[in-house]
Amino acid sequence: MASMMFTDCSSSTAAARLLPLSRSRLRSACTSIFIPRFVGTHPMGTNSLRTILTVHYSSSSSHVIKATMSTESFAKVIDGKAVAEQIRDEITAEVSRMKDAIGVVPGLAVILVGDRKDSATYVRNKKKACDSVGITSFEARLPEDSSEQEVLKFISGYNDDPSVHGILVQLPLPSHMNEQNILNAVSIEKDVDGFHPLNIGRLAMRGRDPLFVPCTPKGCIELLHRYGIDIKGKRAVVIGRSNIVGMPAALLLQSEDATVSIVHSRTKNPENIIKQADIIIAAVGQPNMVRGSWIKPGAVVIDVGINPVEDAKSRRGYRLVGDVCYEEACKVASAITPVPGGVGPMTIAMLLSNTLSSAKRAHNFQ
Ligand code: NAP
Repeated sequence: MASMMFTDCSSSTAAARLLPLSRSRLRSACTSIFIPRFVGTHPMGTNSLRTILTVHYSSSSSHVIKATMSTESFAKVIDGKAVAEQIRDEITAEVSRMKDAIGVVPGLAVILVGDRKDSATYVRNKKKACDSVGITSFEARLPEDSSEQEVLKFISGYNDDPSVHGILVQLPLPSHMNEQNILNAVSIEKDVDGFHPLNIGRLAMRGRDPLFVPCTPKGCIELLHRYGIDIKGKRAVVIGRSNIVGMPAALLLQSEDATVSIVHSRTKNPENIIKQADIIIAAVGQPNMVRGSWIKPGAVVIDVGINPVEDAKSRRGYRLVGDVCYEEACKVASAITPVPGGVGPMTIAMLLSNTLSSAKRAHNFQ
């Protein structure tokens, strides 16, 4: 007796309907069907079941002699690309409403110093994103050997320009520049990256609202909200404590009444701490560091990491993976972001959202 296993996605009824098929049709049916069936109360925030149909058939004929069925739980995929698209559509509508009502178009200025290829790509993508939603983009490109004073002059010009509602300095800056001096020079009213110490300070204090929240952590929380995942009272672990992701992500989770632990490079036995989390945000920069066995069954995993790993099969010779071992985690978690296609697209969507809010605030437009 030979056996063959295939997955059916929709339901046990659909699986049962396949039983009378011949062996060749069973083979063709098994290749790619997996449509998750949602369980629970919210269609976006719960995990999916997949029905596994194991078919045993006679090796001498094409007759199916036995079929067994079981279900396995798989994490719901948190689709950052789809959510980011939805947010961009909302922003496009708001930009157009604002333009029609008061004749104001939000503007975002980006300052790029030096010729790092990755930074140039990020800036190009930001410009494209602005164009796609109707936000005006401004760009200052300065050579690598520019002085700090020259950069500060551009920042000051954009601070005073009423058509600019957001200013972004592309990091990292060349090593001869003082990043702190430069970021501090951006007007807090236009700090759409949310990195100004006053914005971070307000984020950390109870009862003080920052004007802007840093885009990547804001995107992580937005994904939880849009998928109906409760934060209040949950135990959350943030892995990483950088100024741009880990630290503000932990502050945001705390402001939403989660009980938060932070794991960093000096943390002893990180897996023991991570295993207690209902919500994990991983922002480490270590490919596949978080294993499936470190995750509490049913936890929600937001993977911020973007790590290139060698892949001879890929045309580019590498592929991108997260900080969490996706293949293992998706069998334990209730919901998880993929890499790519999870947090990444949300970062730019949040930048556009911050720029729109800034323009609305500047013009007192509701
Ligand atoms: P970072 O500034 O290098 O910070 C990494 C953090 O991880 C640090 O706090 C570090 O701890 C901690 N860490 C390093 N190794 C660790 C280990 N073995 N165990 C526990 N903690 C460890 O990186 P980042 O800028 O926050 O970025 C993190 C990842 O997110 C990167 O892969 C980056 O590419 C990605 N990212 C993605 C987006 C997006 O839009 N999706 C945006 C930004 C960043 P210490 O503080 O003790 O050194």
